[in-house]
Amino acid sequence: MKELTYFNGEFVEPGEKCVSIDDRGYCFGDGVYEVTRVYNGRCFAFSYHQDRLYRSMREMDIPVKMPPDDLQELHEIMIEQSGITDGYIYLQITRGVSPRHHAYDRSKLEPTMLMYIRPIEEDLSKLAAGVKAISLPDERWLHVDIKTLNLIPNILAQTKAEKKFAYSAILFRDDVCTEGATSNVFAVKDGILYTHPANNLILKGITRQMIVTKVAPSLGVTVIEKACSREFIENADELFFTDTIGGVIPITKLDRKPVGNGEPGPVTMRLRDGYEKLLHEGMA
Ligand code: PMP
Repeated sequence: MKELTYFNGEFVEPGEKCVSIDDRGYCFGDGVYEVTRVYNGRCFAFSYHQDRLYRSMREMDIPVKMPPDDLQELHEIMIEQSGITDGYIYLQITRGVSPRHHAYDRSKLEPTMLMYIRPIEEDLSKLAAGVKAISLPDERWLHVDIKTLNLIPNILAQTKAEKKFAYSAILFRDDVCTEGATSNVFAVKDGILYTHPANNLILKGITRQMIVTKVAPSLGVTVIEKACSREFIENADELFFTDTIGGVIPITKLDRKPVGNGEPGPVTMRLRDGYEKLLHEGMA
C-alpha cells in the first residue's frame, strides 16, 4: 500500500513536480476541489462527487478537460495502483498558470490538475462517542455552494474551534445556522430532522444528500430543510455534523452546554448506523 500522486497527466513522486509560482490556485485560491471516500476498495458515491465537481467548474468558468468516464477510470486506477482500500482521493483543479492579474483570459489558460490517494489513519469509530462544537459567525462569501479552494473563513473558524478543544464550529449567519466549518449540520427536535436548505449559503454535502434522500427516508425519519435559528439549535434534542470522511458525527456539547442529555442521540445513532450500512454496501 502506498500513497499515489497524479499531476497534470502523470503519476509523480510527492515533491517531484513543482507548482508554478504563477499558478492561479497558488496565487488566488482560484480553483475547485473534491474529496471522495474510498471504502472497501471503491469510491463511495462517485457520481455525486463528479456532478458536484463539474458544477463547481461550470460556476467558476473553468473548462473541463477530462470527460466523466476518464475521471472515473483515473480514480479506479489510483485505488488499484496504490492498494489503498480505506482512504480518500483528493482532486484539485486550478484555473491554470498566467502572470498575476485578477482577471483571467479563458482562452490562454490550461487548468492544473492534482490528485492524490491517501489512507485514513485516524480511528473514525471514536467519533461515535460524540464531539464538542463551538458556535461562530459565518463570515464566508455568498457562494459557498461552489467547492472552491478559497477556504480562509473555514480555516480560521476550524482553528478557533480546535484551540478551544472542540472538534469543529457550527456557523451562524444572521442568527441562522448554516453549516459547520468543514461539514453540514443537522438538528433533531421531537423526532424530526432539520437541516439548512441546499442553497448558496451551504455546501451541498454528499453525506448530507445521502442522509436526506436515502438514509432518513429508509428509516422513516422526516426531514425538513429549513434555516434554523440559534435558539432552535441551542434547544435541539440532538445535533450532528456530516462529512465524507467522518460520516455522521454526533455533537454532544455546544459552547460548553450539553446537547440534549449530553449523549449521542438515538435518532443520530440510527442515522449513523444507516449511513455506515450504505457505505458498506457501496454506491455509484
Ligand atoms: N460543508 C463544508 C464547508 C465542507 O467543507 C464539507 C466537506 N468537508 C461539507 C459541508 C460536507 O460535504 P461532504 O459530505 O460532501 O464531504
